Amino acid sequence: MSMSKPEDILNRIYDQALPEPADLEQALSWDKPQELERLFNFADTVRKEYCGDGIIPRGIIEFSNFCDKECSYCGLNKNNRKLGRYRMKAEEVLKSAGHLFSCGIRTVVLQSGEDPGSDVSWLAEMIKQIKSQFALSITLCVGERPFQDYRRWKDAGADRYLLKIETSDKELYRQMHPGMSFEQRIGCLDALRESGYQVGSGNIVGLPGQSRESLARDILFFKQNNFDMIGIGPFIAHQETRLAGQPKGQALLTLKVLALARIATRNAHLPATTALGSLGEDYRQEGLKCGANVLMPNFTPLPYRKLYEIYPDKKCVNEPVGACNFCMEQMAKQINRFIDYTKGDSLKFKGVTLNV
Ligand code: SAM
Repeated sequence: MSMSKPEDILNRIYDQALPEPADLEQALSWDKPQELERLFNFADTVRKEYCGDGIIPRGIIEFSNFCDKECSYCGLNKNNRKLGRYRMKAEEVLKSAGHLFSCGIRTVVLQSGEDPGSDVSWLAEMIKQIKSQFALSITLCVGERPFQDYRRWKDAGADRYLLKIETSDKELYRQMHPGMSFEQRIGCLDALRESGYQVGSGNIVGLPGQSRESLARDILFFKQNNFDMIGIGPFIAHQETRLAGQPKGQALLTLKVLALARIATRNAHLPATTALGSLGEDYRQEGLKCGANVLMPNFTPLPYRKLYEIYPDKKCVNEPVGACNFCMEQMAKQINRFIDYTKGDSLKFKGVTLNV
């Protein structure tokens, strides 16, 4: 590894068309207060220059927790027979969308497990209904589907799609996703882009067996793919999964990955994820101070929200719907930022040229 000073390493990560994995790995190893301060300040400066001081809220509705996948980390995995399963009715989804719209939020994220019972036409109709009643952007986060479903939903009016790669390390991906294929995941991301979506991806930090090199390669993967949004959150073990009892991903490591992703990608939308707020302490404000520019308040109705247990002790699981506005406003005010109640489209279309 090079013996460069932190400033030189950070400048290279920022400037180079494709940063050196060794530079990213070295920055991920920093733990001295001065090194961390330089990293986080650099990321905050890049965030300010490319995204401004606004924090964009995206209201999430978790409309079904049925899932036919077996992801090793996720509480929704199909083998978790202890979980009560639900599928919201169309009227309930519309009501929740109306609620977040009335709170001033202009993006709804419709998320679910990979629900075999969630029919392509049902969701297409849902998208049309939401679009006809509210001036909302729609982000879908419903996993791997036949490519014609992606096109159908795009034609119905969906704007964006979030499909995290979870890890760009093929071997780790294989271990974490029995019965799934890394190549298929990449194929889905390509198909989403080809269908005209603004595309988001992301990873989980602190998966058992994940190395620093693997995290460095995740950041390169984000940069190479020029994603419009990138969700970076810590791993939190769920008791009804293969990874029960494994240690949580560290907040500090997650913040370092977030900061480096900001420096490398410059203008991608980066949320301070709910998982970052669910580590016992709430680290979302720290995330906002080192690169993040998005928050994702939860608008799933309360009885269902508890059942969307991807990991335990999820932030705000008992908060009344709508309490998020006050909380977000406070969080923003404390760090001299503001909540930006616009749709928050991709910044990649704004003529910002990246050196990729
Ligand atoms: N099934 C869809 C998909 O694959 O995109 C969306 C739903 S999935 C439950 C949403 C996200 O939850 C995943 O992308 C994953 O990163 C995150 N997640 C699930 N279990 C987790 C855990 N134990 N710790 C941290 N994040 C987790």
